[in-house]
Amino acid sequence: MINAVGEKFLRAVHFDFHTSPVIKNMLDGFDADAFALRLKDANVQYINFPARCNMGYSYYDTKVGVKYPTLKSNLLPDIITACHKQGIGVSAYINVSLNHELFADHEDFLTVNKDGSRIGQDKKDNFFRVACYNADYKYHLFKEIDEILQMDIDGIFLDCPVFRPCYCERCKADMLKKGYDITSDKDFYDYHALTRLNFLSELRDKIKDKNIKYYFNDVGLPVEFKTHAETECLTTDASLWGYGYYGPHSALASTIYNHRVFMSGRFQGSWGDFGGIKNLASLEYDLYDALMSGAALSIGDHLHPVYGLENEVYRRVKTVFDEHLLYEPFIKNSDPVAEVGVLMSGNSGAAKPFTYGADLMFKELKVPYKIYLADGDFSNLKLLIVCEDIFDNDVLDKKLKDFVKNGNKIIFIGKGIDYGARLNLINYVNVVGDDLSDNAYFTHKGDMRWASYLQSKLIKNVSGVSIADYVSNICNFDYDGRQSYFYRPQGDITEYSACVIGKDTACISFDIFTAYKDMVLKAHRDLFEDVLSYLYQDRFVTVSGLPVTSELAVTASDKQTV
Ligand SMILES: [Zn+2]
Repeated sequence: MINAVGEKFLRAVHFDFHTSPVIKNMLDGFDADAFALRLKDANVQYINFPARCNMGYSYYDTKVGVKYPTLKSNLLPDIITACHKQGIGVSAYINVSLNHELFADHEDFLTVNKDGSRIGQDKKDNFFRVACYNADYKYHLFKEIDEILQMDIDGIFLDCPVFRPCYCERCKADMLKKGYDITSDKDFYDYHALTRLNFLSELRDKIKDKNIKYYFNDVGLPVEFKTHAETECLTTDASLWGYGYYGPHSALASTIYNHRVFMSGRFQGSWGDFGGIKNLASLEYDLYDALMSGAALSIGDHLHPVYGLENEVYRRVKTVFDEHLLYEPFIKNSDPVAEVGVLMSGNSGAAKPFTYGADLMFKELKVPYKIYLADGDFSNLKLLIVCEDIFDNDVLDKKLKDFVKNGNKIIFIGKGIDYGARLNLINYVNVVGDDLSDNAYFTHKGDMRWASYLQSKLIKNVSGVSIADYVSNICNFDYDGRQSYFYRPQGDITEYSACVIGKDTACISFDIFTAYKDMVLKAHRDLFEDVLSYLYQDRFVTVSGLPVTSELAVTASDKQTV
């Protein structure tokens, strides 16, 4: 283990090095020192490199697993030694739920599908065999982990802790023993959620006192499974992530983790795209995204199993990391600064759908913001947005009341209005109930009756300022036995409001962020901007004249604000 990169590496490469069993001369003549020098030349500080890949092959002299058949060298330990000589940290990769070479001989290690089959339909899909967390595979994996922990590693990356309910006889027997109903899908879900968490906790307990970084690669796992945030987001793979993914996840990670990493990739497509490299401008976009959120950048690559590092890839990595070095003095040890926060329920780093719309809207409005879990410290904010009513938390109730008492403001949106009512913070409206129409409308500054696209709360203004009227829906999307009602025009302006401003808080009757994520209707942003003009006037940063697609961020350390 080295200390050269300190607690917070900033420039990393993640080698997604999985190898099909077809390579006759795996990395023959590979020179670990030359490899490390090339990384050093590209300003790489830290790498993830597989100890064992998802195909089930180990890349070191293992006594537990199956070493890649044509690999002659003790690859990972050689890489660790060579990288440490250059001051580069090395994290070992292992796949938790996939180990195809082992599973091909151990059907008993696999998750059983609901229909009784053990193997997925699409055998070319990486996830066609997945481990059952109650199988004896556990002892094999734990022995592998023990072996890997003997190496001089700086971190461990535990990929694919897959969640999939298992219908094997072993799991069913354990469910019955513990009082679960094996005819209930919900019980299967609940039992396996708990079983997986117990399995992963046992795994984490083997690692957590080793003084190394660790990351269980599932953004939905509770925060105790990570020493840092490593947000996986191949921006060019829109089917899984895309450019809209990183924003809300980094806004959330910034209030949970001290060390944050944006794990992007050099791929034009997704993982395993050997011949595709992103344009330099695209990699630079990811770099700026990382810099603006005070995060490190990890670029995903796939070491070629015969030829090693691709020259063109490392020319681009070097260009991007050279640029990173240029900006590094301005962002080192910095965190984003914001006066506005969005509250989110849950205990993981997984952003919810409404936060995607919030991210887009705040970026377009040039308002720096962060996302907070209930236990987050938002006391230094001026404005908080609450969009949910699933908090059952006396401490949070008091924090929100104190927040307003201290002169700060809250906007309650959609279902969040019920929470505001329970807290007695929106007494200027009468909350009548849920709107039963499936597509309400509203007016705001003019006579156009805009779609809200989503169901609404029905609120009546009592003593606040209503800035948007609620407009009814003439009919719901339905079928009357003869005709369908696809066409649902706006009805009349009603006695209800779509938005009411009080002294310290405001209510927007529908989930305006989720609607904005789905439809990006500018009238929604205009309405929200109008609410901000009432409740958030004295801003620490204001801009004008920038295009809507420009982005603004503020970061600060104890030395400077940028
Ligand atoms: Zn099972």
